Amino acid sequence: MSGLATDVADRMAAAKLWLVSGATGDLPYLSSALYALVTVPTDRVATMTTDVYWRVYVNPLWILGQDVRVVAHELAHQVWHLLADHAGRAHDAGVDVPGREPWKTATDITVDQVLPWRDTGLPSAGEMGFGPNLSAEEYYLRLKASPVPAQAADRDASCGSGCDGIARDYDLPPEDEQQSALSEQAAEGIRQTVAIGFRERQRERGTLPGQWDRWVSHILDPVVPWQAVLHAAVRRGIGWGQGQVDYTYSRVSRRQHAVGKAILPAMRRPVPAVAVVIDTSGSVDDGLLAQALGEVRAVLASLAVPDASVTVLAVDAAVQTVGQVRDVGAVRLGGGGGTDMPEGIEAALGLKPSPQTVIVLTDGYTPWPHLPPRVPVIAAVLGRVREALPLTPDWAQRVEVVSGG
Ligand SMILES: [Zn+2]
Repeated sequence: MSGLATDVADRMAAAKLWLVSGATGDLPYLSSALYALVTVPTDRVATMTTDVYWRVYVNPLWILGQDVRVVAHELAHQVWHLLADHAGRAHDAGVDVPGREPWKTATDITVDQVLPWRDTGLPSAGEMGFGPNLSAEEYYLRLKASPVPAQAADRDASCGSGCDGIARDYDLPPEDEQQSALSEQAAEGIRQTVAIGFRERQRERGTLPGQWDRWVSHILDPVVPWQAVLHAAVRRGIGWGQGQVDYTYSRVSRRQHAVGKAILPAMRRPVPAVAVVIDTSGSVDDGLLAQALGEVRAVLASLAVPDASVTVLAVDAAVQTVGQVRDVGAVRLGGGGGTDMPEGIEAALGLKPSPQTVIVLTDGYTPWPHLPPRVPVIAAVLGRVREALPLTPDWAQRVEVVSGG
């Protein structure tokens, strides 16, 4: 490392320490995020920016000429852009090059609200005539509709692709060997760690600005957990509405007790048969598969579907009926290459008794039958949160079963 690079690294280390120490910044919950950053000294930026791979581009002359407190404040600002995934959200919000400026201002307003100090020079939301504690997306829409006050646009300089997802010409490629990129999975892990520490701290202090409260909730408690979606899909697949979950196969009505000796007819229905088709090709994540299978079993049990009516089929390049499996490890066929889902579903439909519904657990990297099967099919697609998971046919009830946030 050159002398200049060492000096820059020292300044960055001092700024991180300043942020996490109780006597100065007192933001200990930021430490896992701060120490995951990769510093890239470059004179291509005026001060400090980030990219989506958690690399911080720092101008050496700027950082060496600043007080550690100023560097620390800027660093905290940048790291919150990454924690909030402002780049991914810019993409989702359709931010293009003309939209960059209002997006930057919108996200900066929210970052100002999460930090305990206010020295970015940006007017507050109130000063701009907006309500407090809205999301970046909400500020963005308002800023696009009404022009930005000139002084707000002046605070420039320091938002890169880590803020808006739009690549800059100085951004290093993702696979740069010297300055390695942080994976999206690792970033999600850091967001979780920070969210937990942040929520603890805010509870102690008793204040959590609305939109950051939502951020914490989004990170720690996804609004609609896939488990709930999967349960609903299985219920629908079996053809029982929500009002009927109390239904049991008992021959004696539960009302019997209340009406003494009179015999009430018990509700009876044929026990539904269910086929669970498990994609056991090598690309499927075993842990997630086990979780998904566990949830399927839980919902079937809650619907009083006995284990004996559930048949599990393991499918990769071949199909194997494995009966009632509890352990996902037991269904591994030994890495048979690709997945032949049409054959798996065909085999499921051929079972006796014929299943009322087919539940497929797969990573989605498979062909599907061209024609809709004659019973409802649930396609539970296993993958990582915020990944674009493979498409499934229109005739299948799709449930995204995701890990990592
Ligand atoms: Zn910013």
